[in-house]
Amino acid sequence: MNKIIIAIDGYSSCGKSTMAKEMAKKLNYIYIDTGAMYRAITLFALRNNLIANNSVNEIGLVAVLPNVKVKFNYNSTNNKSETFLNDVNIESEIRGLEVSNHVSKIAQIKAVRAKLVELQREMGKSKGLIMDGRDIGTVVFPEAELKIFMTADYKIRAQRRFNELQAKGDTTSFEEVLNNITSRDMDDTSRTENPLIQAKDAIVIDNSNITPAEQLALALDYVCAKID
Ligand code: C5P
Repeated sequence: MNKIIIAIDGYSSCGKSTMAKEMAKKLNYIYIDTGAMYRAITLFALRNNLIANNSVNEIGLVAVLPNVKVKFNYNSTNNKSETFLNDVNIESEIRGLEVSNHVSKIAQIKAVRAKLVELQREMGKSKGLIMDGRDIGTVVFPEAELKIFMTADYKIRAQRRFNELQAKGDTTSFEEVLNNITSRDMDDTSRTENPLIQAKDAIVIDNSNITPAEQLALALDYVCAKID
């Protein structure tokens, strides 16, 4: 069976990574979460005082960017790929609200995008790959054989994310989650560098009213149609 590149783009918190991970497992493909890479650089900026009062010291960050190493390592204990920043596992630190609240500003910086897009293309040299993000089907792999654009009603996305955080014992309020999602959508769609837009040849999945299992089945049908 021929292997392809699958690009999944879409709005924040609409379940892209959950679906992409499941698809990768079923297809025996490599999965790459590009949002984690932008989150890793954001954590670096926060830890190095390159973000203060909501504004990023862009010149300072760009100057040290060559020394920032982002990679994924497979953890065979939990069977998960985890994000590393300069060889330190930061997988749990990048998922909190502090990083979420600043990541879209970091993702607007041209040099940050250039560095990560290059790394993503390098990681995707061999086919049999599923990558999710905001610019995968438009910029990183415009030649991807299958492009999926995911969306869902913003209140439904916020409620799902809020439920997930509550289950983890996180005390972030529903309003904070909702604000984070709407402001990231706004930043991601309106930026100059590689904004989030639907590729012309992408298939849209709106998962507001379908279950994760239904969504997975739908996506796998699209894959089958491409690899048969
Ligand atoms: O996918 P996730 O929500 O973890 O992404 C975090 C943020 O990283 C997004 O809100 C967006 O600002 C940025 N991002 C991006 N391009 C990508 C992936 C993520 O700009 N390919």
